[in-house]
Order: sequence, then structure tokens, then C-alpha cells
Amino acid sequence: MKNVRSRTLFAQAQQYIPGGVNSPVRAFRAVGGTPLFITRAQGARLYDVDGNAFVDYVLSWGPMILGHAHPRVVRAVRQAVARGMSFGTPTEQEVRLAQMLCQALPSIEQVRLVNSGTEAVMSAIRLARAFTKRDMVLKFEGCYHGHADHLLAKAGSGVATLGIPESPGVPAVFTRQTVTVPYNDLPAAERALRRYGRRLACVIVEPVAGNMGVVPPQEGFLERLRELTRHYDSVLIFDEIITGFRVAYGGAQTRYGVIPDLTCLGKIIGGGLPVGAYGGKRELMQCVAPAGPVYQAGTLSGNPIAVAAGLATLHQLQHARVYETLEQRSAHLAEGLRDAAKRAQVPFFQTRIGAMLGGFFTEQPVVDYASAKHSDTQKYARFFHHMLRQGVYFAPSQFEATFLSTAHTNADIDRTIAAAYTAFRKL
Ligand SMILES: *Cc1c(COP(=O)(O)O)cnc(C)c1O
Repeated sequence: MKNVRSRTLFAQAQQYIPGGVNSPVRAFRAVGGTPLFITRAQGARLYDVDGNAFVDYVLSWGPMILGHAHPRVVRAVRQAVARGMSFGTPTEQEVRLAQMLCQALPSIEQVRLVNSGTEAVMSAIRLARAFTKRDMVLKFEGCYHGHADHLLAKAGSGVATLGIPESPGVPAVFTRQTVTVPYNDLPAAERALRRYGRRLACVIVEPVAGNMGVVPPQEGFLERLRELTRHYDSVLIFDEIITGFRVAYGGAQTRYGVIPDLTCLGKIIGGGLPVGAYGGKRELMQCVAPAGPVYQAGTLSGNPIAVAAGLATLHQLQHARVYETLEQRSAHLAEGLRDAAKRAQVPFFQTRIGAMLGGFFTEQPVVDYASAKHSDTQKYARFFHHMLRQGVYFAPSQFEATFLSTAHTNADIDRTIAAAYTAFRKL
């Protein structure tokens, strides 16, 4: 595969940008080699500076559920750009987007737009803390909620431990307010709540974990978290930044029928432009400034271009059969990959909820971060490069999700399965 221009650009990038990238996983450190410099994308395809084309299963880490450069989204953005980039005033379009989010997500009565998922989670937690007058936060190991200080906590030794900083620059006093327990481990969550429940402002969870590979919630997990948080008067926050408008139009809360107090959104709702949102019960959201005392602001929040892209995306997602088609194609891919691995006699554990898939190089079931880490990441790296050479772009890390869009055809998927069989055989 030709990559001279990507290599040249990456050398220049490393001179001016730390590690050559503006977000770490893009650097290919987990799989080795040179990241692809992309010049354009259309539908399910990415095109790089060396003239290679790839079927894209990363989709900008989730947002591009309609595929790249969807004509309706492009048109909406063009029209918005022509009207001006940013006004710093209320606009009609942001009211329409807020309305659509309130109608789509059962937990959301009011919503505030921000500029990224990180910002959405940070603000939701501030709100939960203000509302409960408590400081502590419970999160699950392997769940990612953006890079806010108090959430960059990893589990200490043992179960239900107080977090220790995952990054230099994060004060230990911050992460000591964060309790970390294994995903899907209800006994551990119950113990943690018994111990810290009356001090917990909130429990935050990815209702389908998408940042340790894809790990679905076990039956009863989300339901029990709902009961426990209610019992301890703690705010339940669903981080639906990936799952919102992906596993169902109304997110994981609709799919599983569990309604949190607050919901964080991002990715899909911006149609590929920088957006985040947090929303929930009116009683909670009314605490946010200027309605209430909890400060949160943003120069570019509700940016008209981002809002236009988001609105156009959500309108397309309301068409009949969108989620059925995504479900069918994703099931086809998941079954094809599982079968290809089996035929090639490669240990492989496939997970999937809707159009988000995870594939782990292990035979043992993956139910949490510890079991996800059983995956043979060296094998994943080799698999990744074999796929890349055959024109298929999977995430450059074992611990990211595989996403489908409405632009992926059955022919794309069949090609991907055939390529995967070849790749598995070569492992
Ligand atoms: C991507 C992501 C975030 C962070 O969003 P950014 O826009 O990258 O700040 C938070 N939570 C989850 C579950 C995510 O997948």
C-alpha cells in the first residue's frame, strides 16, 4: 500500500503538533505504522492523500451515521454558512434542535447545547453536584466520559476503590472524589453505594460501553442502577454520547427502557461538527444559569453551522426503516466476522448492539474492562493492518467501536467479511 505522502505529512505533523495528532488514538500507537492523512470522504468511503480508498468503519469515531458528506447535511451546512458563522445570540434553529432532542430522548425535558462531549459530561456532573449538594461521583472502569479532570480516574487495587489519577496533571484530590467499580458488576456497585451512597452526587455510565471495545450491559444492570440511585437520592447520568441516535433514535434509554435523570449527548447530534449537549428533568435543568445558579457558558455554544448539520442529520434519521436497515446490516457484518474467524480457527469474541460492534481476540466472554483486556492486542494490530491493505479501515485500537452507517451497502459488508477471512487466516 502506497503511503509516501502520509508518511511525509506525519513527519511534518510531529514537528508542529504533539505526537503529530490532535487526539491521541489517531496516531496509530496501538497498532503501529503511519496514520492515514485523509483528504476527502463520501458515503462509506475514505480517500487518503496517496490515492487509496477505504471502507470506513470508524466514521469519525461515531458521528457520521449517514455516511460522509451526505447531500442533505452538506446542503444544510452550505445554507447555514452563507447566513453567517456565528452570532452569539439565540437562533430559531437551536430551538428546533433542542425540541428534537427533548422529543427523542425520554429523559430530556430541557437541554443545553455545548461544544463537545467532554464539556457535556463536565457540565452534567457540576449540575448533579450542585443539585444534590454532594461531591462524589461513581463511574465504571473502562467507561470513557471525556477528559475532565475528575473523570480521568482509574481503579485502584481491589473492587469499588477510590480513583487514582490516570494522567499526570490531574490532582489526586480530584479523583479521590471518584469511586470506580467494574462495568456490569452489580454486587460491586451495590457495595460502593452502601458505602458511599449518601455522599454520591451521581452515578455515570455508558449504557452500552463503547470505549473498551463494545461491551453491552448485562440483563438487569441498568435497571438496578436506576433503583439504587433512586434509593440513595443520587443522580443517574447516562453518557449517551455514542449511543444516542445510534442504538435507537431515542438512544439506549429507549432501547432498554431505563430512564436516567440526566443524559449527555454528542457525536451524531452534530452531524460531524463539534457539538455536545446535556439535558434531563426540568427540575434539574432549571438550576443551570441563567435560570438557576449553576454556571455554564460557551462563546460558540449552539453554533448555527453545527446546529444545521445536527438538525439535517436527525431529520434523515427519522425516515422509516433507518434503524431496521442499520440493525440488519450490522447483524450481517457481525455474523460474517464471527463465522470468518471460526473458519480460520482464530479465537474471537464478537459483541454488537445495533450499529456498534466490538471484536475481541479472545475466546472468553467480554463483559467488563478486565475481560476486554484479555484480547490479544498484538493480533488485533496485525488484523488491522491486513484489513487496511485490503481497503478496509477499522479503528486503530482494539478498545474502540466498529460503526456502521446508512451508506454501508450489503456489497461493502460482503467485501469486508471476505477481507476479514483473509486477514484471520494470515494471523
Ligand atoms: C466521545 C465520547 C466522549 C467525549 O466526547 P468529545 O466530543 O470527544 O469530548 C464522552 N463520552 C463518550 C461515551 C464518548 O464516546
